[in-house]
Amino acid sequence: MPKDYRGERALLLAAVKEMALLGLVTGSSGNASMRLPLEHGLERFLITPASKDYSKLAADGLVAVNSEIEPVDGDGVPSTESLLHLAIYRARPDVGAVMHTHSVYATALAVAGRPIPPVMDEMVVYLGGGVEVASYGFPGSEELATEAVKALGNRRAVLLRNHGLCGAGASPDDALQACVLAERAAHVFLLAEAAGGATLLPADAVEAERGAYLMRSGLKD
Ligand SMILES: [Zn+2]
Repeated sequence: MPKDYRGERALLLAAVKEMALLGLVTGSSGNASMRLPLEHGLERFLITPASKDYSKLAADGLVAVNSEIEPVDGDGVPSTESLLHLAIYRARPDVGAVMHTHSVYATALAVAGRPIPPVMDEMVVYLGGGVEVASYGFPGSEELATEAVKALGNRRAVLLRNHGLCGAGASPDDALQACVLAERAAHVFLLAEAAGGATLLPADAVEAERGAYLMRSGLKD
């Protein structure tokens, strides 16, 4: 008898609907997932289906997959970016949810190949520092997943070159907040550059805030 993961479906769906309402994606672009409890020692993930408009997505439209990205519960086809999500879960035991968006300002910087340096305290406190740009990988490819993990490091947001943004967190809402914050940082950074040039946070503030981030997240440098 397959589990229906009702509670997890509700949590992920709420974050996905919010992602669409906030305009971080359009149509069926972007995707989101969450880690499910181990079942007989095996990993399970809940992920958005491929090519489904978020306004029409219901909780039972989310697909539960195993670590081979084979559906174990739900009828839909798993997101074409499932490899990206899986690679982040493998590299980061602290991450319980991943969200990938195409929000405008973050994508503009991803297209320009420009990382967002730590210019606001909240970036370091909640994202773990600046937001790096991963080298280009074809959408859905192993290469995109590998490069994203490399550039994400132990932070919570990464820009995907010529593509978009990826956020990670303990829960779906946490991953959504990482995407919202990274998008806001991209917007502010671009405005600051246009207003005469962004300035960096003092190095000692970055060090103290990053220490607090690592401790809270149970991570090490
Ligand atoms: Zn995408």
